[in-house]
Amino acid sequence: MSQELTKEQVCIITQNRAEIWMDKDKLPMILAAIRNETGLIEINGNYINPKHIEILTAQEMENITRRKNGQWQCKWGKWHEQRQRCLCRFDHLTGEELARECQM
Ligand SMILES: [Zn+2]
Repeated sequence: MSQELTKEQVCIITQNRAEIWMDKDKLPMILAAIRNETGLIEINGNYINPKHIEILTAQEMENITRRKNGQWQCKWGKWHEQRQRCLCRFDHLTGEELARECQM
């Protein structure tokens, strides 16, 4: 993701899978337009059909990119490369548990 995130942004994904980033502040306006079925709405000079959009957080967009690149998220919420083994459980052991693991 080359996008510089200064303000918190969300990504509008259009029917054509175009990704249009906008400030999260503008979200209520977009949601109101969807609720009121006002027809096309303008975002950054683009007129899009709000019936067919998805609105995703920057975090979710990043997750999608990571999955596309073959990364996976373990149950501790950490991302790993495709072939990388998850060793996160060692980070979550108490000193005593860790000592026991190392004896095995
Ligand atoms: Zn892990």
